[in-house]
Amino acid sequence: MRDAMDEKQTVGRFAPSPSGYLHLGNLLAMLLAWLDCRAQNGKLIFRLEDLDPARSKREYIEALAGDLRWLGLDWDEGWPDPAYAQSARTERYEAAFQLLRERGLCYPCWCSRAERLAAASAPAPGEEQFDPGCRCARLSEAERETLWAGARRPAWKLRAPDREICLTDGHYGPIRQNPAREGGDFVIRRSDGVFAYQLAVSVDDMEMGVTRVVRGRDLLDSAPRQSWLIQSLGGTAPSYCHTPLITDGSGKLSKRLGSLSTQVLRRETRPEALLGRLAFLSGLRDREEPTAARELLADFDWKKVKTEDIRI
Ligand code: GLU
Repeated sequence: MRDAMDEKQTVGRFAPSPSGYLHLGNLLAMLLAWLDCRAQNGKLIFRLEDLDPARSKREYIEALAGDLRWLGLDWDEGWPDPAYAQSARTERYEAAFQLLRERGLCYPCWCSRAERLAAASAPAPGEEQFDPGCRCARLSEAERETLWAGARRPAWKLRAPDREICLTDGHYGPIRQNPAREGGDFVIRRSDGVFAYQLAVSVDDMEMGVTRVVRGRDLLDSAPRQSWLIQSLGGTAPSYCHTPLITDGSGKLSKRLGSLSTQVLRRETRPEALLGRLAFLSGLRDREEPTAARELLADFDWKKVKTEDIRI
């Protein structure tokens, strides 16, 4: 999708999951993604991470787009073009999956534990667990054939590289991770055929020519794996820049838990007041006063943004 003309242009993205109404933390990450991209005259893509049929709901999709418009965060490409919904892109994930298979990078896994680890949506904090590996990674051909002949379909796992991946996060600085030792092999396809978040997000960022990923710090640990996966597929990894989370003391505000959502916020406040609140909470402004997204662009600087999580 990227041509020679815009090779150097920054391409950012909003990638929400329509699994609930957005909350204050999502909005902060999206505001920062918008500011980061617009400050570089970049192109912003709005794609929908709706792979998980159990969690994605039609009613949330329009709400997401409406919330962004309400805040004045515009985008250049993407939704409502249905080609930008992950659910419409399964052929692309299938192609990447076949490539990884041919390269011997993944293997079928019949363990029930793999099923529990298989997520089609981005992991919520604490949801991802270390996978110390299972025997499925080392089965003989004969053992595999016996399992294939059975009724159960396997999940598919990617062999995590046993070497240090080094990245520099735009906000949190250097990250070093040995994916094999710090996370273990990870599921890229569930046994029901649904592709997992880690594969889909990597394929999308690669194929949509994304050069810059700005999102909540809860996905910082996923960046080395995604960067490695994109390179394994022959692509160029984007740079990553993570944002502090907003917490209510009990952990991250999560839309899955129905916490402070835009549905409530939009009834109670004006967009300028909410942007002013986000700007103040994040450190972009010293005082809380109404502002427009465009006004925040004038002196946007990541140095002002807090690194510690924001407790409200
Ligand atoms: N879809 C994820 C979310 O809504 C974001 C995934 C990403 O930015 O990589 O939290």
